[in-house]
Amino acid sequence: MIQRDLSVLWHPCTQMKDHETLPLIPIRRGEGVWLEDFEGKRYIDAVSSWWVNLFGHANPRINAAVREQLDLLEHVILAGFSHEPVVELSERLIELTPPNLTRCFYADNGSAAVEVALKMSFHYWRNRGQPQKTKFVTLQDSYHGETLGALAVGDVALYKETYAPLLMQAFTAPSPAGCYANDGESYAEYARRQFEAMAALLEKHADELAAVIVEPLLQCAGGMRMYHPIYLSLLREACDQYNVHLIADEIAVGFGRTGTMFACEQAKISADFLCLSKGLTGGYLPLSVVLTTEEVYQAFYDDYIKLNAFLHSHSYTGNPLACRAALATLDIFAQDNVIENNRKLAQVMGDVTRPLRDHPHVGEVRQQGMVVAIEMVKDKATRQSYPWQERRGLRVYRYALEKGALLRPLGNVIYFMPPYVITPEQIQLLAEIALGGIEVATDD
Ligand code: PMP
Repeated sequence: MIQRDLSVLWHPCTQMKDHETLPLIPIRRGEGVWLEDFEGKRYIDAVSSWWVNLFGHANPRINAAVREQLDLLEHVILAGFSHEPVVELSERLIELTPPNLTRCFYADNGSAAVEVALKMSFHYWRNRGQPQKTKFVTLQDSYHGETLGALAVGDVALYKETYAPLLMQAFTAPSPAGCYANDGESYAEYARRQFEAMAALLEKHADELAAVIVEPLLQCAGGMRMYHPIYLSLLREACDQYNVHLIADEIAVGFGRTGTMFACEQAKISADFLCLSKGLTGGYLPLSVVLTTEEVYQAFYDDYIKLNAFLHSHSYTGNPLACRAALATLDIFAQDNVIENNRKLAQVMGDVTRPLRDHPHVGEVRQQGMVVAIEMVKDKATRQSYPWQERRGLRVYRYALEKGALLRPLGNVIYFMPPYVITPEQIQLLAEIALGGIEVATDD
């Protein structure tokens, strides 16, 4: 299987030459938190397979829903046609999200949702007679996907630098993430202080700005960096004051990851555009959605000949199988009191990783709801990081695989973002594996 794969495939986010020494792992089946390879070796999926899986692999309830849909309708064009799963899903998403969000526009992956939100915001201002509002503001360390528009509003050099000549220019505001705070400065104080630069940017460039885009509370791909909700509250106020849209990219953090159904709830704010994907289908099928306001919708609602309609489409927009998986996922949230039960799991995640704080090569252990991140550092006192060329995270990855866990560090940051069906014992095991991995990765 490995040989067959490596002779025909090109894997994502991978230097393929690594596989000369790094074993590729074909998976035969999944069950709950477990992935099982062809030798019967099992791995806890501690990263929810790129943050998509919520209720375990081969979840019987989602399986049944998708199976049932399969016999009814696998797919239909969503222009001019509709179907029950997409209507019901839209009704339920509108019910679940803040009252100002009344319209659902679908795409089929996270990056595409970000493209939709950027285009819709720009196009809204154009339709409203402000075509000069063409620019976007993003946060340092943000990640919004890897298609060209989404990449342009991201700030992770690893993904962006090479393609910079192809990208539109965005404004980047300094990070509000508490990991950068001074000694003795709280996450809230730091967020307030950092907001001053954002406020200045908005004031200076309001006339040319379409929107600010953020990953609320938790910047995932940029290193699992967390910030205080006060930043979002201040940002919402300022966006209103300066007439700039707010795009909340909850593609990774939505559906309970941060401890609430949506991260924006913790700041008691609502965005003008809310992007969702990943956990939307429980991790089953590619689907994304942008929720927006009636005001935005109305700016496009006009006679055809005015040519004000929104121009964006993907072949698999609102796929019925994916929508049915999403409905089954929302059923599980409703029936199993998931957000409440996750509080206990989050508590365990905090408890078992707390001792890691004292490790001589751990700079910070941070947690936001169902996500814990452990940052390895070369020098604990100065927080100096290991040079990326040393690939310390990869040593942890290898160690964890041996021990039966899929931990896939982001550089020097090891994190758990597990499916919600994980048990306290499995969380304890992950913490032990992480500690062992850190020992091995930092012993020289
Ligand atoms: N936004 C965020 C916050 C993400 O974490 C990701 C995926 N890691 C994306 C957008 C892009 O989603 P996709 O990979 O489905 O294109």
